[in-house]
Amino acid sequence: MKEPILIVGGGLGGLTAALALAQRGWPVRVLEGAPEFGAIGYGIQFGPNVFHALDRIGVSAAVIEKADSPPAVLMIDALTGEEITRVPTGRPAFRERFKHPYIIIHRIDLHNVLLEACRRDPLVTLEADMMVTRFTDHGDRVTVMTEDGRSFEGAALVGADGIRSHTRAQLLADGDPLPNGFMGFRTIVPMGDVTADVQRDIVALWGGPGFHIVHYPLRHGTLFNIVAVFRRSTHSERGDVAAYRAELEHAYRNAHPTMKALLAMLDLGRRQAVGDRDPIRHWHKGRAVLLGDAAHPTLQSLAQGACMAIEDGVCLAELVDAAAGDFEQAFRRFVAARHLRTARVTLESRYIWDVYHADGIARDVYHQMLRERSEADVVQCLGWLYDGFAAPGTA
Ligand SMILES: Cc1cc2nc3c(=O)[nH]c(=O)nc-3n(C[C@H](O)[C@H](O)[C@H](O)COP(=O)(O)OP(=O)(O)OC[C@H]3O[C@@H](n4cnc5c(N)ncnc54)[C@H](O)[C@@H]3O)c2cc1C
Repeated sequence: MKEPILIVGGGLGGLTAALALAQRGWPVRVLEGAPEFGAIGYGIQFGPNVFHALDRIGVSAAVIEKADSPPAVLMIDALTGEEITRVPTGRPAFRERFKHPYIIIHRIDLHNVLLEACRRDPLVTLEADMMVTRFTDHGDRVTVMTEDGRSFEGAALVGADGIRSHTRAQLLADGDPLPNGFMGFRTIVPMGDVTADVQRDIVALWGGPGFHIVHYPLRHGTLFNIVAVFRRSTHSERGDVAAYRAELEHAYRNAHPTMKALLAMLDLGRRQAVGDRDPIRHWHKGRAVLLGDAAHPTLQSLAQGACMAIEDGVCLAELVDAAAGDFEQAFRRFVAARHLRTARVTLESRYIWDVYHADGIARDVYHQMLRERSEADVVQCLGWLYDGFAAPGTA
């Protein structure tokens, strides 16, 4: 029996890697810091590229069953309510080009598909309540230590512990992620409670100077997911809902009335700072490697962070298997294969973020550029991303 590969973090990236490795005969032990395996319960969007990875671990059909495919992804002017551009996700030309659908899904549902598949695989051991604080690379194996003093040995270490990764802090010691000055609130309400006059079957992004709102349906139209993000103007105390409301009212003061109706539906109980990191060329050393947000966190404007984590998980497993136990070689090939694609996601996401939130003449220019593009142009621009990814030598 081989020693297990230790995976720190049981999010979408960690579970994908665990399943993909186990399916290729590699025992894995997933150490999750939270008291239970689970996801924060909001919606998530996936471009068709995610299916190139999900197909390779055999879970596409289970995911499709839980997901919806919106007829379009629209960008709307947050001041006037006019459509600026659209990704024609429901058009036959889109499906023919990318072979797979664009989907929206409850994150819990996707997480459960992966979790159940991991639970069914005897080579996956899942351990919750294991907050990893340190690891040691001995050259021929690794050891990780948890907050409460336990330790685990394994053949190699995969840090899939998210944007505030402890594994990265030890491996690269390159500081904290970069906050970009924006803050977000996420809410899910029953579809029947939606009071705003909005199109409910699409993904809509309302972009305005310093703020945006994204909304879309979940669970076959029974739920409605809203994300509101804005540039912070004050520094309200964490948990001060009245101060959050005042901040929101100020940030969205010029927004279209429909956006204000959406804001009224927000749950202000939990806020989240927005940020990413500058892309890097190396995120591995010896028998340790990072994946997903631990390696290349991105702004959510391209809706690709989790897609990249899932692609990483499958790619890593395929290269570990191809290297037949030479982890250093596998990790080197993995990072070489993934760094440009993930860096491009990070950098394009920053650019799109600026487009969404532009003010003044920049806003007019961006809107003009977007309006000039035909649907065929939009599809063409997304080819590099939505065509999917295969690890070198494994297509
Ligand atoms: C508002 C918002 C909207 C988004 N929308 C989309 C979208 O539509 N599409 C998309 O593709 N992406 C989207 N993303 C990005 C996506 O959420 C992340 O990129 C994705 O969750 C990264 O997956 P991961 O597995 O790398 O990390 P995570 O999901 O962060 O998982 C990390 C796991 O590690 C655990 N952990 C952390 N530290 C430790 C430790 N020390 N020891 C053990 N366990 C630990 C955590 O508890 C967690 O379970 C969005 C992000 C935000 C903020």
